[in-house]
Amino acid sequence: MIAPTPPAGFDLDVDTLIVGAGACGLIAALAAHEAGQTVLVLEADNIPRGSTALSAGLIPAAASSLQSAAGVPDSSTQFAADIQAKAHHQNNPALVQALAEGSAPVIEWLMERYALPFSLVDDFDYPGHSQRRMHGLPSRSGVELIDALRVACETQQIDIACRRRVTTLHHEGDLITGVSTAIGGQGTESIGCRKLILACNGFGGNRAMVAQHLPRIADGLWFGHDGRRSPVSLRTSSRLKRSVLCRWLTQLKCWLRSVLCRPNNLQRL
Ligand SMILES: Cc1cc2nc3c(=O)[nH]c(=O)nc-3n(C[C@H](O)[C@H](O)[C@H](O)COP(=O)(O)OP(=O)(O)OC[C@H]3O[C@@H](n4cnc5c(N)ncnc54)[C@H](O)[C@@H]3O)c2cc1C
Repeated sequence: MIAPTPPAGFDLDVDTLIVGAGACGLIAALAAHEAGQTVLVLEADNIPRGSTALSAGLIPAAASSLQSAAGVPDSSTQFAADIQAKAHHQNNPALVQALAEGSAPVIEWLMERYALPFSLVDDFDYPGHSQRRMHGLPSRSGVELIDALRVACETQQIDIACRRRVTTLHHEGDLITGVSTAIGGQGTESIGCRKLILACNGFGGNRAMVAQHLPRIADGLWFGHDGRRSPVSLRTSSRLKRSVLCRWLTQLKCWLRSVLCRPNNLQRL
């Protein structure tokens, strides 16, 4: 739901609030923490897992030091071209370029700052990638990746509140002011924030929303994390919904660009 800011204010306030403790949310939490923000991560499940834990935990990145050491010639331009070819050129070119340019710096940052022992997958050509650019942890499992990121957050004393499903986004005009959560069957809690990052990984697990927005695959097999039943029910179809959505997307885009491109320069935010 989308609702105005509670008249009595929020139960607590943080600078940066992150919804979802998958790889995206935990990496964003580390970056925001480095930028001096007070950070809280809200996770619907009992422990951070998400689709990240179901995957092989492999991160494509172009022009990394690991590729250089292995003699793999690659560039962000080539990576961006591969993504666009795979997606039939339907992606926003600026976002794809930002992702391609920021990918290797994120891998380097996670290795140097948080000692994640990435290595290059050098025995398998991923479909659609014209170079070997998948980077993974030793077990090549998403469970190892999510656990390593969780430990990194815990070491930095970043709070991850589990069993909190975000149900409502609060706003004043077109500005998001906070969220309300359902606490594992034991009431609700409201949290105010200056910045909100939705890292809850889309709505693929929500049959009704898939049918509404992507009717051609309404009966498709869903094999991702079951928690992806959508961050919030986006049922309002008013101008407010559109303006609020634009605001989130702009905020998210700025954050992703910062997180992915210049993790060491986040102080500017
Ligand atoms: C089987 C499988 C194989 C894959 N293989 C690859 C691969 O080889 N290469 C590749 O690049 N990608 C792969 N992927 C995709 C990749 O794993 C995901 O894109 C990535 O892990 C998404 O990370 P995330 O942090 O955005 O989301 P997730 O890891 O899904 O985390 C989202 C979190 O948000 C939480 N959440 C959702 N709604 C709420 C709410 N309302 N309130 C609070 N919390 C909420 C969820 O519980 C979840 O923990 C694969 C995925 C699957 C399922």
